[in-house]
Amino acid sequence: MRRTLILILLVSGLAGCSAGATRDDDVLYQVSTIAALLEGVYDGEVTVAALRSRGDVGLGTFGALDGEMVVLDGTVYQVTADGRARVAPDDLTTPFAAVTPFESDIAASLDGRIDLRELELALDLSLPSRNLIYAVKVTGEFAYVKVRSVPRQEKPYPKLAEVVKAQPVFEHRDVRGTLVGLRMPAYAKGINVPGYHFHFLTEDRTEGGHVLECILTRGRADIDTTFALEMALPRDKAFAGADLSGDRQGEVHAVEK
Ligand code: ZN
Repeated sequence: MRRTLILILLVSGLAGCSAGATRDDDVLYQVSTIAALLEGVYDGEVTVAALRSRGDVGLGTFGALDGEMVVLDGTVYQVTADGRARVAPDDLTTPFAAVTPFESDIAASLDGRIDLRELELALDLSLPSRNLIYAVKVTGEFAYVKVRSVPRQEKPYPKLAEVVKAQPVFEHRDVRGTLVGLRMPAYAKGINVPGYHFHFLTEDRTEGGHVLECILTRGRADIDTTFALEMALPRDKAFAGADLSGDRQGEVHAVEK
């Protein structure tokens, strides 16, 4: 029988914060938009070093779509198409990423065997609002984690939906590690992925990827409430010339889920 027990250990999310009193560390810093990534705008401009100066937790990808990015405890990891993680060099660039200086506003202990959907529902129960932006870390023991990465692309870049048709997928069983993610509000569509988006890094930080499925056995969730979004838009012609109009929710779902 499945059992989910959530213990809220600490909640300070909205307490003490008011409109106009946003602190620097409550900003999500984002490079480009999900719509541009879907359209194949893969050339990076912002370096790993610059990204790291804006936050210590987050996710994204790399120039030419060279793997999945996981940012954890101030280190930027690159999970290449073989599923292996390495510390990304400072001069590598990103065409799409989002990071924040992580502070745990809400912490929850998760006990019981829950899948990704159940985890998301459990996390939702501890949020003060669905209209804010959250960075999330879930560290613990997983019975199963299914991740994918993406292979480096050559120009002319194909759209992301084409790339992920041949995405390498990796399965981990009985593994310890951390889900690093964001929860964006529904109104963020076009800018980022509405709802939850997780990347995974094993405890020894040697493997990971974009999470497709998981079964958490036990763990701890930490959630950072973010009250501001700062976007750095690419200055290149590919971004300037891309058609970013239209609703891509079906495409986002196909690419991310
Ligand atoms: Zn991802």
